[in-house]
Amino acid sequence: MSQSRPAITVVIPIFNEEAVLPELLARLTAVFDAASGYAWRALFVDDGSADRSAERLREQLSHEPRFGLIELSRNFGHQAALRAGLAHAGDADAVVTMDADLQDPPECLPELAAAWQAGAEVVLAVRRSREERGWRRIGFDLFHRVFGQLVDFPIERNTGTFGLLSRPAVAAFNQLPESHRFFPGLRTWVGFKRSEVFYDRKERAAGQPTQTMRRLVRYALDGLFSFSHLPLRVVTMMGLCVAGIGFALGLFFITRRLFGIEVAQTGFTTLVTLVLFLGGVQLIGIGVLGEYLGRIYDEVKRRPGYIVKRKSGLE
Ligand code: UDP
Ligand code: MG
Repeated sequence: MSQSRPAITVVIPIFNEEAVLPELLARLTAVFDAASGYAWRALFVDDGSADRSAERLREQLSHEPRFGLIELSRNFGHQAALRAGLAHAGDADAVVTMDADLQDPPECLPELAAAWQAGAEVVLAVRRSREERGWRRIGFDLFHRVFGQLVDFPIERNTGTFGLLSRPAVAAFNQLPESHRFFPGLRTWVGFKRSEVFYDRKERAAGQPTQTMRRLVRYALDGLFSFSHLPLRVVTMMGLCVAGIGFALGLFFITRRLFGIEVAQTGFTTLVTLVLFLGGVQLIGIGVLGEYLGRIYDEVKRRPGYIVKRKSGLE
């Protein structure tokens, strides 16, 4: 009978989450037990934690056969950890991606599963509310607003990595070769029939956010540059505008000279301003090119996105 139950693997990246582990494991187990219509598995990806998260998880494996653990050789980042989890989800019928810090409540899992059973192949968990405050909140809101306007594959407002992917969607994900990964954008890119489930996003249950602001900015830039050529177009437009103004001014001064009207002596200030302005515009242009070039370089190197140190539990 257990053969016929749909198998769902929950992929959970872990980076220094020792403080939330007890609650996370307890709530996960409770949900797994309650929603017994599915064969649940939890696949933890330890992303080079410096605390005892990995040891704690390994201890659990001996008495919880539904848990598995992949340990990466160092800290590769949230996206890489997700990628590793998806690649090792095996023959699950569906995979849920969820944060460890209980901002994504495990109690939503049955709802995600139900939406999938109702026919969706990609189920997005949409935040009805967000408890984060301060600059993090402002940053998230700004990003979602700007990003939606700029890219070719806009992500659904108020969605993050939390959600469910059916087996075909997971297979599509695992085929993507790129190393700069922006999960929500790629999820839009792969397509498939989608549906949404709403939830309230809590503050993290314990500890500090493990993603630094620098990481988040880089993540946002990855999202922008890997899903949009707009920055390049903006530079082109800027170039055209400046060139146009230059041309018009040139024409203006030449005409005046030809008609013998005395040309005003443009002074030092004007020249310095123009030189600096043009220099600045050019440097910005080179910078934008560089963003793409650096990414091309990374892709061409074809380094694997993560390295697995050890696998335990499951199979
Ligand atoms: N995480 C990870 N590697 C990292 C940073 C974070 O695997 O380098 C995990 C972390 O343990 C958590 C999830 O990614 O499960 C989201 O991290 P966090 O809550 O710090 O980020 P935020 O909520 O700000 O997106
Ligand atoms: Mg979090």
